[in-house]
Amino acid sequence: MSQEVKGGSGWAPDSWKTKSIVQDVYYEDQNKLTSVLAKLKRLPPIVSENEIRRLKKQLAEVAENKRFLLQGGDCAELFDYCAQDQIESKLKVLLQMSLILTWGGRTSVVRIARMAGQYAKPRSKPTEIIDGVEYNAFRGDNVNGNDLSERKPDPERLLGAYFHSAATVNYVRSLLAGGFADLHHPDSWNLEAWDLAHVRNPVIRKEYQGIVDRLHDALDFMKTIGADEGGNSGSVNASMNTVDMFMSHEGLLLDYEQQFTQQSSDKKFYNLGTHFLWIGDRTRQLDGAHVEYFRGLANPIGVKVGPSMDPAELVRILDILDPDFETGKVTLITRYGHEKIGKYLPGHIQAVKSTKHKVVWCCDPMHGNTETVNGVKTRRFDNIAEELGKAFRIHTQNDSNLGGVHFELTGDRVTEAIGGSMELSAEDLSTNYQTFCDPRLNYEQSLDIAFSIAKFFQE
Ligand code: PEP
Ligand code: MN
Repeated sequence: MSQEVKGGSGWAPDSWKTKSIVQDVYYEDQNKLTSVLAKLKRLPPIVSENEIRRLKKQLAEVAENKRFLLQGGDCAELFDYCAQDQIESKLKVLLQMSLILTWGGRTSVVRIARMAGQYAKPRSKPTEIIDGVEYNAFRGDNVNGNDLSERKPDPERLLGAYFHSAATVNYVRSLLAGGFADLHHPDSWNLEAWDLAHVRNPVIRKEYQGIVDRLHDALDFMKTIGADEGGNSGSVNASMNTVDMFMSHEGLLLDYEQQFTQQSSDKKFYNLGTHFLWIGDRTRQLDGAHVEYFRGLANPIGVKVGPSMDPAELVRILDILDPDFETGKVTLITRYGHEKIGKYLPGHIQAVKSTKHKVVWCCDPMHGNTETVNGVKTRRFDNIAEELGKAFRIHTQNDSNLGGVHFELTGDRVTEAIGGSMELSAEDLSTNYQTFCDPRLNYEQSLDIAFSIAKFFQE
């Protein structure tokens, strides 16, 4: 009974199997798949229901315009990224961005990393031709390997995903518990080390320096008066000693996700493999397997919304995913591109306004702005910043509110996106182009975008 009522009519953790599925993975060795899935089901959860409920509460506050959401991380996380330095640099860039946003918006920031499970990728084509030979496309480390000799899907990689996610979450937790986010921690917060030497344009450098100086003064003042002592990280007046950092990934491999789906004491079903999951733009068919799986979850969930989303379809998807009209249950992650946002976002906002759904509106200015330059996928910082600026303005003009932002970024010094204050050119892309999927903002470009948002807040 509870399954029927709380998960939605006719829903069960495996009811998605009765629906048609896109982006499915075919495994030759079905026996091995069965034993891997059984093992995953036995392994302990990666996150707790309480943490998920805390995030849900925070996202409800975002939907009510009392907080701002920052979500970011790699397009495709690799098992290799589960390493001390990389986890630390990712955490650090997200914390520093959130500090700039907190200061700029005078609002507390909800942080969600695309991390500890962001391994599976939807692909536009299942195969690719390399030197005249057809190979399976690389679909993420939990499906196959990027190396041409490892392109056959291997169920064992699902276990790899679990253990790498668990190790990543464990290290993030220990860093936060050990004071990594404490505003007195010099390695995380040495603002003097933000010498802004990478900022080539003197006008922009002066502007950023002004923000850093004022931020610095504000922190000094807080420390002087002791306003940073104690507190409760879950409250709006967040503690200065530690912060919440939630994990998320695209819920693409439903066989995997199903194994973490448990009914809790409140009779609701939680996916305990991560805090927040989203449905990608390619897998959000109303009658498809992904929407079926997601409609039974009590976790807060995201839906990617692009130009192909019809406003009436958006209403239908919200009716399916948010039947109880829970504030902040669904985050709409819009990704149109800087040229198309003006055409589509107003209609989407109006469609949602015509319903009782109270969503979080989040702008992903990355996925509609991908282009190929010199044979590699890239994105231009100016186009990213333009889509963001337009998102802020269009929401205001439509009496709505942009509640958050979603980026593909890394704390490392890669050269995958063009522009930013270091003025990376198309020729610079080859210097340190690392991604196996979409291009990410590097450390400096990530701080640049946070500074730009701080400016939008002040417009
Ligand atoms: C992604 O977030 O990496 C992605 C594939 O996005 P979308 O579903 O919006 O295309
Ligand atoms: Mn991507």
